[in-house]
Amino acid sequence: MLHCFQCGKTFDDASLLWRCPCGGVLDWTVPESFKRSSIRTEETGMWRYAASLPLDSPDSRVSMGEGGTPLIPGDWNGLSVFWKLDFLCPTGSYKDRGMACLVNRLRELGVRELIEDSSGNAGSSMAAYCALAGIGCKVYVPGYTSEGKCVQILSYSGELVRIPGTREDTSRAAEKAASETYYASHNWSPYFAHGVKTFAFEVWEQLGFQLPDAVLLPAGQGSLVLGWAHAFEELRASGEIDRLPRIYALQPENCAPLA
Ligand SMILES: [Zn+2]
Repeated sequence: MLHCFQCGKTFDDASLLWRCPCGGVLDWTVPESFKRSSIRTEETGMWRYAASLPLDSPDSRVSMGEGGTPLIPGDWNGLSVFWKLDFLCPTGSYKDRGMACLVNRLRELGVRELIEDSSGNAGSSMAAYCALAGIGCKVYVPGYTSEGKCVQILSYSGELVRIPGTREDTSRAAEKAASETYYASHNWSPYFAHGVKTFAFEVWEQLGFQLPDAVLLPAGQGSLVLGWAHAFEELRASGEIDRLPRIYALQPENCAPLA
């Protein structure tokens, strides 16, 4: 089931809605909160946490081996920290966790072609997973997107549409085009953040089922922060943890949409 954060309405999760008719953000309703015994110990990477994902048949998935990335102890200005190396995911970013979840769900729902908008990493990841799933993929990118990212999208057989102007102009163009094709925006999708949350389950397991005191995450448009919040809420609901770590959302000074 899907529910709207804004008006509270619920929808069948086979409905292919990417946004509530009221304009609110939709989320997938987790049927059962994740706990230690839910881990599929015979699996590797993010699929150890498949019980937490919105998939009917995770065993029939397409996958490139996402997740299972190293957690490296280090020192940061005198503080003991761990670095989570999710750039080792198949296309080079944590987005692969969300895309593996989103694209497999859309594959289950019979989607044959879709549109995504991105400033780089998400578009590359979407193009790669769509190629694997046999789904046609058109990626809208801002005109200023780096050539490297454009080449990566094209190399996965994604169709590239460059939109002049800002990142917001690109989103508007994709939404307009979505009247004819499914709009699989990773920022609007009710499924993407649930793939990302496996990042947090993995850190929790790698730390011996302990929580970090605090987590520092790139803010971006919020999907990483949302994914971590989903994971910690589920662990608290199932009784695995009794507190939530502090989450810090970080953004560079020259790309600071939140503040
Ligand atoms: Zn609504």
